Amino acid sequence: MTAIIQVAVPGPFATPLDYLPAGNAPLPPTGTRVRVPLGNRRVTGVVLAHRQDSHLDGTRLRPMIEGLDEHPLLDGELLDLILWTARYYHHPVGEAFATALPGRLRHGHPATGGRSRHYTVTPQGQATDPARLHRRAPRQAEILTWLQSRQRITAASLATLEGDPVGAMNRLLDRRLCESHESHDYGLIEGRGEACAPRLSPAQQAAAEAIAPNGGHHTLLIEGVTGSGKTEVYLGAIEQVLAAGRQALVIVPEIGLTPQLIGRFQQRLNARIAVLHSGLADGERLNAWLAARDGQADVIIGTRSVVFVPLSAPGLIIIDEEHDQSLKQAEGLRYSARDLAVLRGYRLDIPVILGSATPSLESLANARDGRYGHVQISERAGGARPPALRLLDMRGQPTRDGLSQPLLDRVSQHLADDGQVLLFLNRRGFAPVLICHECGWLAECDRCDARYTYHRQRQRLQCHHCDREQRLPAHCPQCGSADLRPLGLGTERIESALRASFPDHPLVRVDRDSTRRRGSFEQAMADARRGETRLLLGTQMLAKGHHLPAVTLVGIIDADQGLFSADFRGPERLAQLVIQVAGRAGRAERPGEVVIQTHHPEHPLLQTLLAGGYPAFARAALAERQAAGLPPATAMALLRAEAVDRSTPMDFLAAAAGQAPGIQGVECIGPYPAPMERRAGRYRAQLMVQAVERRNLQGFLDGWLPRLATLPSARRVRWSVDVDPAETL
Ligand code: ADP
Ligand code: ZN
Ligand code: ZN
Repeated sequence: MTAIIQVAVPGPFATPLDYLPAGNAPLPPTGTRVRVPLGNRRVTGVVLAHRQDSHLDGTRLRPMIEGLDEHPLLDGELLDLILWTARYYHHPVGEAFATALPGRLRHGHPATGGRSRHYTVTPQGQATDPARLHRRAPRQAEILTWLQSRQRITAASLATLEGDPVGAMNRLLDRRLCESHESHDYGLIEGRGEACAPRLSPAQQAAAEAIAPNGGHHTLLIEGVTGSGKTEVYLGAIEQVLAAGRQALVIVPEIGLTPQLIGRFQQRLNARIAVLHSGLADGERLNAWLAARDGQADVIIGTRSVVFVPLSAPGLIIIDEEHDQSLKQAEGLRYSARDLAVLRGYRLDIPVILGSATPSLESLANARDGRYGHVQISERAGGARPPALRLLDMRGQPTRDGLSQPLLDRVSQHLADDGQVLLFLNRRGFAPVLICHECGWLAECDRCDARYTYHRQRQRLQCHHCDREQRLPAHCPQCGSADLRPLGLGTERIESALRASFPDHPLVRVDRDSTRRRGSFEQAMADARRGETRLLLGTQMLAKGHHLPAVTLVGIIDADQGLFSADFRGPERLAQLVIQVAGRAGRAERPGEVVIQTHHPEHPLLQTLLAGGYPAFARAALAERQAAGLPPATAMALLRAEAVDRSTPMDFLAAAAGQAPGIQGVECIGPYPAPMERRAGRYRAQLMVQAVERRNLQGFLDGWLPRLATLPSARRVRWSVDVDPAETL
């Protein structure tokens, strides 16, 4: 009897493929990688199991080429987690492994790391007075000072400095004040553990006591207003886990992984810290992954995909800003890092902490139903007072580039009182519309159901949905008039209005356009924190996780765009955004003020939010979802299809609906064209599946999806399934 190995290979295969072992070599153990033939290519796969025989005829089986790991790369726990993920999200198993593994391993490189870069100071650098470096080079001076006292800095530690430390180091290298070396270690961040923990407030203490760091699995939702000291509670729990010789895994949203946060961990914890995110070089990523697996790292902090990191001694999982949309992958393997983290904690029998000032309705429902513990911290730490929220009725108000006089007055007042002002508008560019004043022609993207955004600085039109760009036309293509006018508001426009009104106050704009250069975002935030910038203006990049203690006034320039969204989560996202932006104000001794410009001051969402804060809003929103039969009251999956012509996606989805197995309590809604039907030159449609019970939804998808691949129309569309979709647009 032949032994068979089952291998998860990249490609559209729902199950692993069978291979014969290579010649007389011993069977590769499960959890190791092997190189196998696939068509006329050679690919890297992961061995999932051994079998005595295959359902394929033995003569059709191909032998594997070679084993790549002597010992299992993935232990049973992680193998099971990834297999579970593939099944739950109905994604090809090999692709799930490809998503979970760092690039180097995915591509068959050896699982060895331990090479990293560090920097030292040259004799010339030792003899240079940092203060005499160029006046505009504070970062270089900071690094040089550090190196003169400590001699050595690892690339990982360097990366935690604010601003553009890598650029600064490159200039120090050019000036021969520093040298770069490669050495044999994982390049971890060495925590110094020198800062003392503050005395916890009673509410923080209650949260800390609800955790029981070494006491088996439970999930705790910490709903704490911004600045309430959640991070302190995490740090306390991590210390206890470390003392027991175990590891802590900390998952943060993309924008939350700041030098500030890492710096705080570094100061407080006497531990080796590995950082994992998509901005790292492949080698650095592999190092962090291996350090976690080999027990070299005590604390592993990372974005979404860190949920798949191997842990030698897992003790605790923390998900910060658990409501953040970036925790759900929007493409390929559409997994939720939060949901997987909770599952992983359950399977590992370790505690999981979810923290947010504005928890997702999903987590609040789990807390309400007793599946999660729930503690609230409604006081700010250190006695900081919460900001006062105020609606500014825009109806009939004269405005200058979207700014009403009352708001401008508040800005002047705060600037005069030495306050710092943050204005928020979730739309970059100068204006979202360019219109011909003669004939009404609108500049529209020809690949999307969308208008071009006018970018004045670059003198270009850009589609924010497909990124297509073109030069600004000098004349209307329809009537030839030169009178083309921008309509509506973007951050660039607000910026020029503010510069005109407040020419003497340093201003910075923070959005994807203004922060293209590496390090410029960090630089802008550092300047803002030091108080050099008096006026901050930006998109949601400004809304998240940054401590801006000097901000006294927050202005939300246009709440209306969020009030009327086509997505059922629109109101939830708006409420989270308002509270998160508002949370930037008045963090220190100075109380803050928040002004929200709206044409709909009587809107129930805004009223509930103002009167009762996020908890009251969330209660009302949960009741609404319940009444409408929407998540989290039900389970949902979305089948999406797109094609270059309009009818094919709808035809495919209609045929798909015809294949739906009859399962009680599971319902198909649609198909219907997506709210933005055409995008990047393709027509899009969707079919929604809703189930009262999650279990039934899974049963339905198990029976249904395999049938779809066999539909004739399936070959004419791109289709995908999204379980627990985070957006339905
Ligand atoms: P969050 O994570 O909830 O936004 P942080 O943990 O970052 O809050 O705390 C906000 C600020 O308050 C930080 O500067 C932190 O050092 C400080 N802080 C937290 N807890 C305390 C405490 N118990 N006493 C004094 N200051 C505290
Ligand atoms: Zn015209
Ligand atoms: Zn477009």
